[in-house]
Amino acid sequence: MIKLSAATIGLLGVILALLHYAVLPYFDNRLNRVIAANPSPVPAAVRAFHESAFVADMHADSLLWGRDLGQRHRRGHADLPRLRAGGVDLQVYSAVTRVPWGLNYDSNPSDSDSLPLLFIGAWRSPATWFDPKQRALAQADELSRLAVTLVLRRGDLSADGHKGLLSLEGMHALGGREAALGEFHTAGYRMMGLAHFFDNEIAGSAHGREKYGLTALGRRLIPRMEALGITIDLAHASPAAFAETLTLARKPVVVSHGGVAGTCPGARNLSDDQLRGVARNGGVVGIGYWKGAVCEASLAGISRAIFYAIGVAGIEHVGLGSDFDGGITAPFDAGGLPQLTAYLLAAGLSQADVEQLLGANLRRVLSTNLPD
Ligand SMILES: [Zn+2]
Repeated sequence: MIKLSAATIGLLGVILALLHYAVLPYFDNRLNRVIAANPSPVPAAVRAFHESAFVADMHADSLLWGRDLGQRHRRGHADLPRLRAGGVDLQVYSAVTRVPWGLNYDSNPSDSDSLPLLFIGAWRSPATWFDPKQRALAQADELSRLAVTLVLRRGDLSADGHKGLLSLEGMHALGGREAALGEFHTAGYRMMGLAHFFDNEIAGSAHGREKYGLTALGRRLIPRMEALGITIDLAHASPAAFAETLTLARKPVVVSHGGVAGTCPGARNLSDDQLRGVARNGGVVGIGYWKGAVCEASLAGISRAIFYAIGVAGIEHVGLGSDFDGGITAPFDAGGLPQLTAYLLAAGLSQADVEQLLGANLRRVLSTNLPD
């Protein structure tokens, strides 16, 4: 046993309190900004239409920040009160488990980890401080404690009230172990992104050093994920891994959050070929709300990307992928989503098309993939 003096214990206590009450909220607030805190009013008829539609968002990192998502917060983008206000029936909650220092879209090392301070500052178990797998399991546990129906099987999609589906952002959290897939499935994970910001044991990342395709382990895991009812997410995948997965996939995939190069060129955004590939596969692409995805973080910018994606892939293959609380600046928070519905209807999209975009497309993919 290490013996700590009272003074040392006191100092550690002060540091933990500072991290929890000052440093973490400061960065949460600074990294997850909202441009228009007060949403513009939405016509009552549009709001009623939005409420009646099945609304699903394919990607939010809200679990990461250690906020109690049962309460409404003044910082960040999404919590249950704001998701309900935004009419969101199904939220895909993604677990971020490792983020390199000096994060960028071009090239990140695979061995860098900026998250220990966040997990310590959120007063999570020491097991999570340095371990991506434990970080994912802790976030799954936190979601399971909320008043949310966790979507584990097809039937859960039609449960009343707000539903949450767990997604793993980057399969590095498996630690290169094939057997870990079953452990994540048992923990409730039903969607997995092959890679996040760096190349891993499964696949290369669009933002990695080498950007390789699928590894031998990655090729073995694709059919295993499909057999378990885990939807494959190609967001952040390297172009080589993206193309290879589409040739191997027998079930529809998603690209949970991002943009299209046609309105916003860059490593984060899909080429027309990639859009057509997802359409052929029967999958769905989630359009994000931030500058890196749509170049202009506004209703107009998001809408341009949506119309472009519909033009190339078809309305059946486009959805919403906010990336709320993913370290982005968004034009509105989760409660402001009806504004996007109003904007798209005013821009000429039919109610039937808006319903597909808002959630029917994702529901189709998930009901194909989820186990009975
Ligand atoms: Zn992401």
